[in-house]
Amino acid sequence: MNILVTGGAGYIGSHTCVELLEAGYNVTVVDNLSGSSRKAVERVENITGKNISFYEADICDKNTLFDIFDREKADAVIHFAALKSIPDSVARPLEYYNNNVTGTINICEAMKKFGVSKIVLSSSAAVYGKTTELPVKESSPLLPVNPYGRTKLIQEQIICDFCGSINGASVILRYFNPVGAHKSGLIGEDPKGTPSNLVPYISQVACGRLKQLNIYGDDYETPDGTGVRDYIHVVDVAKGHIKAIEKLNHEKSGNFIFNIGTGKGYSVIEMMKSFEKASGKNIDFVFSSRREGDVDACYADVSLAQRELGWKAEYGIDDMCSDAWKWQKLNPEGYR
Ligand code: NAD
Ligand code: UDP
Repeated sequence: MNILVTGGAGYIGSHTCVELLEAGYNVTVVDNLSGSSRKAVERVENITGKNISFYEADICDKNTLFDIFDREKADAVIHFAALKSIPDSVARPLEYYNNNVTGTINICEAMKKFGVSKIVLSSSAAVYGKTTELPVKESSPLLPVNPYGRTKLIQEQIICDFCGSINGASVILRYFNPVGAHKSGLIGEDPKGTPSNLVPYISQVACGRLKQLNIYGDDYETPDGTGVRDYIHVVDVAKGHIKAIEKLNHEKSGNFIFNIGTGKGYSVIEMMKSFEKASGKNIDFVFSSRREGDVDACYADVSLAQRELGWKAEYGIDDMCSDAWKWQKLNPEGYR
């Protein structure tokens, strides 16, 4: 079975390619490398000993995308390719709508033209936004609070409407906070510029690239006053995609939406302490003011994925931090 993976050179995409190849699928990657490196694909090939059919191409370029679909005869698509920084999306909303929404429409058009009727979409807990219901269920209100979250919700709606129109099937995975790296230390998260997410920021403090962690807020309604999130190991996220493809092999039509988290929330301080234990380094930090748009706590109800996908996270925060540290230590400058 051939799976066409958009954004397969990226952080979650590269880890998913490892799992796909190891499960015996053929993999075609389409990535414009705007947020990643060709080296990630080579390293996936090294880890698995298998080849990937790689196209450096932009999914917004419809003609090229059609050529790739024509050549590769995909049985299903996993659609990761997107811009993903929340602050960047506030500064450059049109680029986000153009890339994430137009790109998704093009993927659907290519699927229609070449008779592909199954797709897995990367969505995000960002679609829940200001939702106060905890744990967050798939049926919780969808109130995204930034352009990035809105593009994710629009992508979901496009995919559901499209699959409805062709009698196709989709699995939409709403990831909570993916962190960590592959056990080999060969692939991991490689943010461009200063990281805005917690774990890559802590990693760069630990290896001396950044001086000090700013903890955004110490007066949240949480046990230690710092923000609580549902961190999930990226390899668990990747394995969720194998379950999603298996579900699509059984379901001819319909749209299926699942939270992908552990169901447990950890605070910034708990993550920092776990990282200190994993790395043996002290993380210098300072409390600073709250970051705009942040909520006190957000963690998932993951019972639906467990019941309907047969998927459950296996790793805890200590694995997440030690694997993130191994990647950072072996690759202090990322793929550069
Ligand atoms: P990433 O930036 O590492 O990967 C995205 C990949 O898509 C990159 O390789 C980039 O080069 C590629 N890409 C972007 N626009 C493209 C285009 N127009 N054409 C071709 N390729 C393009 O990000 P990631 O963390 O791996 O995220 C993957 C998906 O998961 C995204 O859809 C993101 O919105 C979603 N997601 C990520 C997180 C997270 O915390 N990492 C959380 C929730 C959801
Ligand atoms: N955070 C922090 N300092 C940082 C980055 C993040 O204190 O440099 C906090 C942030 O306020 C939130 C948690 O860490 O409570 C997770 O933030 P991240 O950006 O990783 O994920 P998201 O906010 O998208 O859930």
